[in-house]
Amino acid sequence: MTTDTAAQAAYVVAALLFILSLAGLSQHKTSRSGVVWGIAGMVVALAATVGLASRSITATGLVLIAVATAFGAGIGLWRARVVEMTGMPELIAIMHSLVGLAAAFVGWNGYLDVDAELSGSLLGIHHAEVFIGVFIGAVTFTGSVVAYLKLSARINSRPLTLPGKHILNIGALVAFVGLTVAFVARPGLGLLIAVTVIALALGAHLVASIGGGDMPVVVSMLNSYSGWAAAASGFLLANNLLIVTGALVGSSGAYLSYIMCKAMNRSFLSVIAGGFGTPAAAAEDDEHGEHREINAEETAELLRDATSVIITPGYGMAVAQAQYPVAELARKLRERGVEVRFGIHPVAGRLPGHMNVLLAEANVPYDIVLEMDEINDDFAATSVVLVIGANDTVNPAATDNPTSPIAGMPVLHVWEAANVIVFKRSMAAGYAGVQNPLFFRENTQMLFGDAKQRVEDILRGLDSLDAPVPEMAGTTR
Ligand code: NDP
Repeated sequence: MTTDTAAQAAYVVAALLFILSLAGLSQHKTSRSGVVWGIAGMVVALAATVGLASRSITATGLVLIAVATAFGAGIGLWRARVVEMTGMPELIAIMHSLVGLAAAFVGWNGYLDVDAELSGSLLGIHHAEVFIGVFIGAVTFTGSVVAYLKLSARINSRPLTLPGKHILNIGALVAFVGLTVAFVARPGLGLLIAVTVIALALGAHLVASIGGGDMPVVVSMLNSYSGWAAAASGFLLANNLLIVTGALVGSSGAYLSYIMCKAMNRSFLSVIAGGFGTPAAAAEDDEHGEHREINAEETAELLRDATSVIITPGYGMAVAQAQYPVAELARKLRERGVEVRFGIHPVAGRLPGHMNVLLAEANVPYDIVLEMDEINDDFAATSVVLVIGANDTVNPAATDNPTSPIAGMPVLHVWEAANVIVFKRSMAAGYAGVQNPLFFRENTQMLFGDAKQRVEDILRGLDSLDAPVPEMAGTTR
């Protein structure tokens, strides 16, 4: 068997491992094995690629590949070890930016180093691939960098609204199509520089004009772009595995974006066009009235008397790392015969599945963790809802106020319960920058402070409620 045949066979094996990985990652229970399949696929792919390359490169080239691999693997291992779950989306965004940058470089290389055997229509196709690869890569690069800056709060997450922003975006796309035709007819450095600049500006503008609340969709959309950018590089490098892997990432990212848009009741096009999170003046300036406060001891009493409790966690639970005491609270209440369930919004936290991962980490049984659609009808018959660090995902304005920037987004109907306790540190707005009328409802009470500390206080409160009162020993509560 020649090296080439062996490498192509290894590529097929790697592609199958990547498909197995995606299948594993689609369910919590099998996600660990999904990761292992993915790692195995990547090892096979790397080994085959280096094997192929070793036929035509010098020893120095091989040493450079080894150094680059060790350097990249070192950075990857270090980042994976230190990243907090709350920092995952920005890590993903910055990684997408590297995929985009690599695709743009491969495109440029394809222009500077044209295979001498190409001629006629094949040469035209090659130049089209160069142009499309550079365009998708550059859009992905700056789009991902802006997404990273927004997600890590290094720049404001509010949407940038330049006058005529849609015309700017459409103009850039039209210019791209025109320049592609010109480049295929007569390739030139000037045209390649022009498309690179336009794509860099378009990527930055597209993501800058999308509001914070739509960031989950943006991250998954950039994931999709990075896949298509990799597939474009695969065509240029005549590498089948890169084409297959790029297509897998591109299509799964596009499908995830579609599912998320459906979950948020948004059309994909309106997300891309931006605008969600644009503050509607009426909604922002509304006078909501007074809020009520409660302390941990009173909350413990309320929970002691409850028959059913639903916990709806959000980003604040992740920040506070409150999942362990929350799991303990659920366990204690269940021991007392209280029905406890978790209600998970599809975009609670900062990445899809964020809350499920945290709760699984704290060993909360899967069967009491329900999706929004499974639990939304049950709030009305619930004694107490504990909203732990969630805000946008429990905002009634999404259903009640057509002028709200988040109008139409499905939310957890927590306000239908008899009592709602909101755990947060202040009256600040959530990620989408929209005030939450839930905090001012008659059945809502605010429990201020760090979520982890407050839940621990409640646990202590429950213990002291259980402890016999010395001077009244022998009597029951
Ligand atoms: P939000 O981000 O809307 O709100 C989180 C709340 O947690 C804040 O109001 C904050 O209030 C509170 N909080 C922060 N730290 C603590 C702490 N230590 N203790 C207690 N409370 C704390 O949360 P949701 O999960 O409800 O909504 C997610 C938002 O993020 C949505 O807008 C979604 O679109 C967006 N998003 C989701 C992604 C995803 O894929 N899941 C990805 C990117 C964005 P305070 O500061 O007063 O404490």
